[in-house]
Amino acid sequence: MPRRQFLTGLGAGIVAGAVIGAGVGALGFPQTITKNITSTQTQTETETQTETTTQSASAVLPSNIPTTWNQTADVVVIGYGGAGAVSAITAYDAGASVIILEKTPSLASLGVSNPTISGGGGNTQMDAGNAVFPMVPDEAAQYLYAAALGTTPMDVCQAWAEMGSQNPTWLDTYGIAHSAPSATTAEFPNLPGAGGFGAMSITGGGAGFFQALDGLVQKRKIPVLFNTPATSLIQNQTTGEIYGVNAVQNPAPLVSPTLSSSTTSSSSTTGSSTTSTTTSAGYTALWSPPTSGGTPITVRANKAVILACGGFEYNNKLMANFLKGYPAHFYGWAYNTGDGIPMAQKVGADLWHMNVMSARMVPWFPEYPVAYSTTAPSQHGWIYVDKTGNRYADETELSTYSHNWWLKLSEVDLTVPDYVRIPSFIIFDQTCCNAGAITSTSSAKLPTALGGAPAWSSNNSVEISKGWIIQGSTIAALVAAINNATIVSGYDPTTGAQVTLQMNMSATNLETTLNNYNGYCTAGVDAQFGRPASTLVPIVTPPFYAMPLWPGGPNTLGGPRRSANAEVLDTNGNPIPRLYLNGELGAIDGWTSLGQNNGALVVFGRISGTNAAALTPWIS
Ligand SMILES: Cc1cc2nc3c(=O)[nH]c(=O)nc-3n(C[C@H](O)[C@H](O)[C@H](O)COP(=O)(O)OP(=O)(O)OC[C@H]3O[C@@H](n4cnc5c(N)ncnc54)[C@H](O)[C@@H]3O)c2cc1C
Repeated sequence: MPRRQFLTGLGAGIVAGAVIGAGVGALGFPQTITKNITSTQTQTETETQTETTTQSASAVLPSNIPTTWNQTADVVVIGYGGAGAVSAITAYDAGASVIILEKTPSLASLGVSNPTISGGGGNTQMDAGNAVFPMVPDEAAQYLYAAALGTTPMDVCQAWAEMGSQNPTWLDTYGIAHSAPSATTAEFPNLPGAGGFGAMSITGGGAGFFQALDGLVQKRKIPVLFNTPATSLIQNQTTGEIYGVNAVQNPAPLVSPTLSSSTTSSSSTTGSSTTSTTTSAGYTALWSPPTSGGTPITVRANKAVILACGGFEYNNKLMANFLKGYPAHFYGWAYNTGDGIPMAQKVGADLWHMNVMSARMVPWFPEYPVAYSTTAPSQHGWIYVDKTGNRYADETELSTYSHNWWLKLSEVDLTVPDYVRIPSFIIFDQTCCNAGAITSTSSAKLPTALGGAPAWSSNNSVEISKGWIIQGSTIAALVAAINNATIVSGYDPTTGAQVTLQMNMSATNLETTLNNYNGYCTAGVDAQFGRPASTLVPIVTPPFYAMPLWPGGPNTLGGPRRSANAEVLDTNGNPIPRLYLNGELGAIDGWTSLGQNNGALVVFGRISGTNAAALTPWIS
């Protein structure tokens, strides 16, 4: 495709004239800011403004289109994470009025996190702030195409690579501080184009990134309606155009979830484990938008709607049906329940990349909705084993493939059938335990007021006392304790009931595994998997410990299929008129994760915001 055609936004032939044209500067940035930016915006928890707008008398519209609207803007953005913020800022700076709908309360209202962030933030405000980007566009585009097994068409790869190579300049233009970009190699160095990447750290990590974006949103006085989950899109059924959004304005912030008790109701044996389901609803409060008691509102989008409401990390039905590796547990924003997926499906969207996640292995326990973050301890003297007690990899590769280790967990025993490596277990001894936390000491990243978990104890004692870490004075005793433990794996995707596993590991097997591993430590060579010699520390000092690990990590990547213009595509490959998307919802990563969500959300924020703002309003 010709360069920058992805910014010409010829969405479904409904656009009158050129879209961005003269408004684009040398770097493709919109140059015309048509609104005055005056003072810091005051944002209320739930805006009560009820603006009733009557349709153009000349319009002949299907009966499903409301005749009055509670809110109106040129561009309506659903979701206030990094993706929603960049799309909103870009659309505004291209001359459009913008409203953002955000499901959750403002963080400030809860007195949590960074009080200068007005709210929302999603996964973005808790992320690590690494901003990988395509430094050499043609190479990076080639890499993405290969890493996605060709599921991301080359025009999309090129749009991302060309715009993304400008990311450092974009951040500078908007005053977002970052480290100097340096060349880096992508996670799969053997793929073509792997050397075409750059890396930067955004100052202050994800919190710093979102704080800066939020400052830009506040400065522009873009209204953010908190506690207002979007529930469906309003579509002109004759033309297919998206005219607005149905949402629910909730009167009060979401409350912290409470855990309900559980009782066993059924059980069955599958290979190396027995599965039971219980009636506990767990944290279901987090998994469905709190629409009851709220006020339904209609929000008109004169030009377009941009979906930016995150992944489906907390939607068991979607995870069970689509992810390779289940149950999976994530440690991000527990309100990302994939709401954008059915919303887009109902207006005809195709889906893609639903089986891809940015994930590794994480500890998760039912007392909290979120998992803990990275699992590879800095001290050594530990191994990973599958459910049968066998090692299956050089464990240090979890760090090498930190966005894609989950692919290793999809090994299935077809005689059952059953995932052999879900859960895996980290096995360690007292020496390793004494040397420090067995996982990240930082708390799960979600603020505790929103259901986050407490920090891990520095010597693992709290987690041992909770039974999260299983112990035994010998390997045989450890295996007996593992097999006696009630290990909650997650929730039934249909009923929501809690599912527990009872393991059936062989003590002989784990003893053999450890004898072999300890022998490799003595020899200084891991003859089985080639784990680096410096990390070969024996596991010999009782008591011995085991902790279950699940596929999971930061985020999912599937959702509505997107075009190079950031349009949502239907099942025929045509854009759904006036509907765009950005962020981890329907991301460009296919088959594997590139681990570059922050970079991509800047790219498709610029494309979606520019193209949405350039449309001719459907209503005068
Ligand atoms: C701990 C952690 C570390 C990470 N580190 C990195 C990193 O270093 N580099 C990197 O590139 N990526 C990283 N990621 C991934 C990255 O943060 C995300 O993929 C990215 O920020 C997603 O942005 P988003 O705006 O699409 O989604 P989010 O930031 O999650 O925002 C989505 C928003 O939509 C809202 N929402 C959901 N449903 C609705 C609805 N129905 N109506 C209205 N609003 C709704 C949510 O409440 C949320 O605020 C990390 C993620 C985590 C969790």
